[in-house]
Amino acid sequence: MASSLTIDVFNSGYKPIPGGPGWDDSIPATWPASTSTLISGDRDAVLVDALLTTSEGQRLAAWVQNLGKQPSVIFVTHGHADHFFGAGPVLDTFPGAHLVASDQQVVGDARDQTAPKVMANWNSWFAGQISQSPAVPALTSSQEFDLEDHPLLFHTIGGADGVLATIVHVPGTQTICSGDIVYNNIHMWLRNSTPDTRMTWLASLDAVAALNASTIITGHKDPGAPDDNATRVLDQSRRYIEDFDQTVAKSSTPTEVIDVMLAKYPDYGNLYTLFMAASTQFPP
Ligand SMILES: [Zn+2]
Repeated sequence: MASSLTIDVFNSGYKPIPGGPGWDDSIPATWPASTSTLISGDRDAVLVDALLTTSEGQRLAAWVQNLGKQPSVIFVTHGHADHFFGAGPVLDTFPGAHLVASDQQVVGDARDQTAPKVMANWNSWFAGQISQSPAVPALTSSQEFDLEDHPLLFHTIGGADGVLATIVHVPGTQTICSGDIVYNNIHMWLRNSTPDTRMTWLASLDAVAALNASTIITGHKDPGAPDDNATRVLDQSRRYIEDFDQTVAKSSTPTEVIDVMLAKYPDYGNLYTLFMAASTQFPP
């Protein structure tokens, strides 16, 4: 008989960053709280996403060790640094583990993050805190992984917060690790988004919804979020993108957008994300 699967979620919490031009420094600027999910059977385990800073990677590795698990795979949902630059300490702790992605474009996007110009950008936010030679995921040989007789399915979904988004679907527990397609009680990364990319993102939400999971572990999640209910997080993510889209269309300054969105979403985490999103909507 197959073992039963266990799902554990690590939440990084918020990290201070320099706010930069236009940010009101009386409020600390932070990076969105991020998750890493361990899906485990009796012996084997798969870790989904691996955070950003070296200290986060160390905390994550210690957390996995404390759970008594040995991941054989670290799966990267999409090629943004905050989902895999922290993998180094996990790979050091579990030398048998493989860092992978299920789509060649995710591998390419991840590699692009290590280019000097992009690294300089990450270093400006996290000086001295991130690996200067992060491991890049390799392409999986299959879109399915057998975890002690439970299938884990890797799906390429489409566009979301700027790069190609993939997910891990665990049909046996009706769970999805959504990466950054779905958010949970935290402002969504709509920096540089356009009406077109927002439509694309909404279509990706529909594609995730069509898989009928009951639980969705989102890549960014407020540590105080009440649950991982799939319907709730899908609905709120859809509504947030639609509200942002309509608000931008009716506004002429970033401040107007921020004020309207804050009135609608007063309790969401990481104001900095909304500030960045609104700031990019009215190019001079
Ligand atoms: Zn992210």
